[in-house]
Amino acid sequence: MTGLAAQLAIRIAATGPITLAEYMVNALGHPTLGYYSTRDPLGASGDFTTAPEVSQMFGELIGLTLAQTWVDQGVPRRFTLAEAGPGRGTLMADLLRATQKVSGFHDAADLHLIETSPVLRARQAGTLGDATWHDSMATLPDAPLFLIANEFFDALPIRQFRRDGAGWSERMVGLADDGSLTFGWSPTAPLSELQDRLDDTNDGDIIEVSAPAASATSEIATRIATHGGAALIIDYGDWHSLGDTLQALSDHDRTDPLADPGNADLTAHVDFAALAHAARTAGAAHSRLTPQGVFLERIGITDRAHALAERLGGTALEAHIAAHRRLTHPDEMGNLFKVMSIHPADTAPPPGLAP
Ligand code: SAH
Repeated sequence: MTGLAAQLAIRIAATGPITLAEYMVNALGHPTLGYYSTRDPLGASGDFTTAPEVSQMFGELIGLTLAQTWVDQGVPRRFTLAEAGPGRGTLMADLLRATQKVSGFHDAADLHLIETSPVLRARQAGTLGDATWHDSMATLPDAPLFLIANEFFDALPIRQFRRDGAGWSERMVGLADDGSLTFGWSPTAPLSELQDRLDDTNDGDIIEVSAPAASATSEIATRIATHGGAALIIDYGDWHSLGDTLQALSDHDRTDPLADPGNADLTAHVDFAALAHAARTAGAAHSRLTPQGVFLERIGITDRAHALAERLGGTALEAHIAAHRRLTHPDEMGNLFKVMSIHPADTAPPPGLAP
């Protein structure tokens, strides 16, 4: 067993099985042995590739969408331009380049990045220069907030519950006879906070709940409801989670989530219904959940793709065409990834999204 697996095994032996959320917090965020704390996981040489790393078009179009929303809301003079989980800073760099000519936008923006990984913070500083970094949304300024989060929410810890009659048992991480980490289930108990899920589940169904995702959404939505702005949340997931979506990725392949904590990426599908509920409770509105491909087509990716293609030829042109397809096609990222905005209740959602 590696360092982190051994540490968790010692702890479980002493105090008993831990929840999946506790396991994920350690596997992803342990200060010295966690996955994100120790590496830059992105790109062909890493474990996974994200939309901004596929093509500059992604960040450019999102930038213009946020800038248009800023104009539509009457060009607030000072605002927070924020990204949650900016990775290598690629999306924000493309966003800033694309919005350079939007009069007054850069002058009014204060750049804030929510990032826990020291490795990726250093990478972001190299790409973006000056910014204010935060460990969580809670310390973002009380000001109009224009925020983007791409593949951020899927990295937040979840708990899993399996329905058993009118009660639930929780998936735990415990120890097998040989001392290795293994999944188990807690005894069934009624859970009042899952009462509403009795309506849309059957016996044996597994559901996933992320308290950190709900509280991050609440922090964002409170600022938007109070001061204006908009958030674009892009991730894989759907309206209400159903089933076990926990996934471990290493070197672009799926692996066993318990095999090597700290060395594989762990994600779960985002339950957008839970985020929408948190946004409404905080007094903000949200858009309809929209497939990424549809959203990008509506905000003009095909025109942008044609403009960029004019300067390309040979393998660069082929790669560009493949990237466009990868971002938008229903068989690739176009349908798996969804987009939802959070915006003030008295304004329309950003371009490309319907109320
Ligand atoms: N948005 C980027 C990177 C996605 S990877 C892109 O699209 O390329 C997930 C990002 O979220 C990484 O930057 C990771 O370090 C960060 N992250 C993961 N968990 C986090 C947490 N709990 N708090 C803040 N940042 C987190």
